[in-house]
Amino acid sequence: MTVTVLVPVYNEMDVLPECCRRLHDVAEARAEDFEFLFVDDGSSDGSAEWLLALRERDPRVAVIELSRNFGKEIAVSAGLDHASGDAVMLLDADLQDPPELIPDFLAAWQEGYDIVYGQRLSREGETWLKIRTSHWYYRVINLLSDVPIPADAGDFRLLSRRAVEAVKGLREKHRYMSGLYAWIGFPQKALPYHRHPRHAGRTKWNYWRLWSLALEGITSFSTVPLKLATLLGVVTAGAAFLYGVFFLLRTLLFGNPVPGYPSLIVVMLFLGGVQLICLGIIGEYLGRTYVESKQRQLYYLRGLHPRRESEQDG
Ligand code: UDP
Ligand code: MG
Repeated sequence: MTVTVLVPVYNEMDVLPECCRRLHDVAEARAEDFEFLFVDDGSSDGSAEWLLALRERDPRVAVIELSRNFGKEIAVSAGLDHASGDAVMLLDADLQDPPELIPDFLAAWQEGYDIVYGQRLSREGETWLKIRTSHWYYRVINLLSDVPIPADAGDFRLLSRRAVEAVKGLREKHRYMSGLYAWIGFPQKALPYHRHPRHAGRTKWNYWRLWSLALEGITSFSTVPLKLATLLGVVTAGAAFLYGVFFLLRTLLFGNPVPGYPSLIVVMLFLGGVQLICLGIIGEYLGRTYVESKQRQLYYLRGLHPRRESEQDG
C-alpha cells in the first residue's frame, strides 16, 4: 500500500523543515510505503529549491513546481493529478493540522471509507469574527446547496484512489474543494480534531479571500440566488402594484393634495437597490460561465520531479 501525503506550499520556508521532520517521524512508524508530494505554488522564498535539495536526500520526496502562484485549490488539484498512492492525505504545510493524526485517517480508510475529513473542534489562534462568519457561512450554504457540505471540514483529509479519480475528473476552473469532495459522494467519515495555530510564518488569508471563497461555494453549488432574485422581483413588483392601488383609491376618495416626495424617493432608491443586487447576482454566475467557457488549462508545470524510488523502478 502506498500513501501519498500531498502538501501545497507557497512561501513556507519558515515551517517546511519542521513539517518534513514531523512527516518523517510519522512515516517511520508505519508499515505503508509513503510518498511525500510537495506542490510548489510559485513560491519566491526558496521553498522550491529547499524541497528539491530534500528530494536528493530523501527518496520518498516528490516535487511539482507550478509555473506561477495559482492558489491553494489549484495546487491541491495539481497534486491529485500526479499523486501515485492508493490513498492521498492532504495536509497544510503550516502544521495547523497535526501530521501525527495521519494514522487515524489511515485507520478509517482501512475501515472502508473513501473520504476521511478532519473536522475542526477548536480553532486556536483564530479570531472570533472568523469563527462566527465561518459558522454562519456553513449554515447558509447548506440551506442552498443540494449536497450537504460538512461544516468546519477543511483540507485536512484523506481520499481513497477512487475518490481521487472522481475529483480528478472535475475540471472546473472555479474550484470550491469542500463542495467537490462532498459532491462526488462515496462513504465519508468525519474525524474531529483540535486545530493548532500556525507554527510560523503568516497566513495568506484575508477577509477579501474569505468573501470570494464564500461566493465561490454558493455559486458553484447552487442556483438558488438566481431564483431568489426572480422572487424578489415578483414580490417588489407586487408590493408596488398594491401601493399603486392604495394611491389610486386615496386620490379618488380624498383628492390629491400633491405630497409624496419622500415616498417617491424611498421607492425609487429601494427599487434601484433591488435591481443592482439582482444584476450583481446574475453577474456572478455570468462571470463564472465566461471563465469556464474559455476552457483554459487549470495550471502549467515548471518542473515535475517524481520521487526517486519510482525512477529506479523504471
Ligand atoms: N497555499 C498555496 N497557495 C496559495 C496560498 C496558500 O499553496 O496561494 C498553501 C500554503 O502554503 C499552506 C496551505 O496552502 O500549505 C494553507 O495556507 P494558509 O495557512 O495560508 O491558509 P489558512 O490555514 O490560514 O487557511
Ligand atoms: Mg494555515
